[in-house]
Amino acid sequence: MYIDAHAHILSFEYGENLGKVIESVKNDGEIILVNDVGYDLKSSEESVNLSNRYGFIFSTIGIHPYDADKFDNYALKTLKELAENKKVIAIGEIGLDYYRKITDFTLQKKVFEQQLILSKELGLPFMIHSRDACRDTIEIIKKIGYFNGVFHSFDYGTKEIEEIIGLGLYVSFSGMLTFKKKEKLREAAKVVPIEKVFMETDSPFLAPVPMRGKTNMPIYVKYVYKYFANLKNIDEKELHVKIIENFEKLFGKSKIYLENTRRQRQYV
Ligand SMILES: [Zn+2]
Repeated sequence: MYIDAHAHILSFEYGENLGKVIESVKNDGEIILVNDVGYDLKSSEESVNLSNRYGFIFSTIGIHPYDADKFDNYALKTLKELAENKKVIAIGEIGLDYYRKITDFTLQKKVFEQQLILSKELGLPFMIHSRDACRDTIEIIKKIGYFNGVFHSFDYGTKEIEEIIGLGLYVSFSGMLTFKKKEKLREAAKVVPIEKVFMETDSPFLAPVPMRGKTNMPIYVKYVYKYFANLKNIDEKELHVKIIENFEKLFGKSKIYLENTRRQRQYV
């Protein structure tokens, strides 16, 4: 039973194929949960709507660093209201991106900080996007003093993963783990305890090998699980069980659903 801990199942990403992608998860039967992640208000609202329509879709809402200039009081108020929905399990994706320089870095830090405070106030976990900005990301999390979160599509090294795990945070691996050039990332994955990990697709981006170059979909999360289990030399079934436990622990609002699903499928 697989969980895709981070995907963008949204109209802007899939256009007229959105329905087909959702159907592919439904028909597959082995993907029990997809965390549908927004990056601005419109996509956050869409992910909440989809989560209300489909049992296996859960929603994460927030303003991405690329969209930091869209964060204002209205956005904050809307996110608070959306977060009351029972399928909204986290605030994200939020964070810092110094690689693409799409929005001003000072503004990114301010918007990241405000959304961390929001997630702390709401008692919800947060989902981090961090690129070329590890130091500042960690410093801001420390400043707010709330460590209930996960670095999505983790792409730093061994030293960084040890510090992040040491703070009590989680990391989520995407298809990047399977890419030829990501040796540093694989080294980091080798040292991380499986009690602290998730697997994700970041669909429609980052399709794992052997699907690399194609439009990514939640069903391809299976390749990431398989790759990680091989890398760690662990039984894949053990990884499935562990990740469901991790998910229930960090994303508390998914617990009842996951417990029921496990019971129904006699998978405990
Ligand atoms: Zn993403």
